[in-house]
Amino acid sequence: KAPMDRKMGDKPATTTAPKSSSASKNHADPPPSVVTEPEEDAERYSIGGFLGKGGFAVCYEGTLARNGRVFAMKVVKSQMPQKKMEEKFRTELQIHSKMRHPFIVQFYRAFAFEQSTYVVLELCPNGSVMDMVRKRRCLSLPEVRRFMIQLCAGVKYLHKRFVAHRDLKMGNLFLDRNMNIKIGDFGLAAMILSDKDAKRRNTLCGTPNYIAPEVLDKSKGGHTQKVDIWSLGVICFAMLTGYPPFQSKTQEEIYKKVRNLTYVWPKESENSNFIPDEAKDLVSACLNLVDEERPDPDDIVEHPFFNMYDGCIPRQLDPACRFNKPIWL
Ligand code: ADP
Repeated sequence: KAPMDRKMGDKPATTTAPKSSSASKNHADPPPSVVTEPEEDAERYSIGGFLGKGGFAVCYEGTLARNGRVFAMKVVKSQMPQKKMEEKFRTELQIHSKMRHPFIVQFYRAFAFEQSTYVVLELCPNGSVMDMVRKRRCLSLPEVRRFMIQLCAGVKYLHKRFVAHRDLKMGNLFLDRNMNIKIGDFGLAAMILSDKDAKRRNTLCGTPNYIAPEVLDKSKGGHTQKVDIWSLGVICFAMLTGYPPFQSKTQEEIYKKVRNLTYVWPKESENSNFIPDEAKDLVSACLNLVDEERPDPDDIVEHPFFNMYDGCIPRQLDPACRFNKPIWL
């Protein structure tokens, strides 16, 4: 799995939450088969299959005993090895719990049980856009349009509430049973309310391939919600081509390409996708080194890429398209 991950460039920057030994330990210890909420009229969940593992959490399916509804249960050890990780998790819970939108993973509740915190989330049974691109190599234009439109709606909602996600990448775009995008993993999210807040936001965070130039350059005086628009440009490029635009062997090389805005579109013969100029123009609008000049989600959805003469946007997607290019009827 590792080499492909590197190719897709979805690994976090080395300065952010390293894979902790406790996370792997966590995965090694099987979770309890039943967990209960602490209140008097406590709900019980039976823990099912393993869903995935992140920097510090492990996810399992969890079935609510009362009605059989299935959720994703994110399990995090209450005692974290680093204070910083604990703080991050607290921010994640604080921000994510206030979000409610059709294209954002729904947060239901969080509670402590034995030595762990359990976060009850909407289950996304169809993996992530990253898994899909890995299997398919690249996505068709109608699929890219549909995902971008949904992504813009979710990001618009976040930005209106002064939230910057700061880690938008294909691996954090989960897919529900109807193949709708669900933005997840709020581990790096932050509230940015004012210019003063923006100036304080100068910690290096995110995933190298998706990181905006102003995050790399502390002298630029912090960053704003516009970092997410840069990531949208990277995501759009990667869905169309199968690899992120600033892909390189080392983190330093990636950062150099980001600062110099060095990226090339594949030649038509190398790529199974025909990529229209409208798509290239949209990506280049998002990948603007000057953050204020990047479009807002509302501008993006008005872009000609979404209303080209043959630019259909599918109303439904079959989950089979995780593995095979859909045939449009
Ligand atoms: P971390 O915060 O530690 O990075 P993530 O939130 O990325 O953890 O979750 C780890 C993994 O668990 C994901 O890569 C994915 O495979 C799985 N996962 C997370 N949330 C969901 C969900 N809502 N539905 C299904 N699987 C999920």
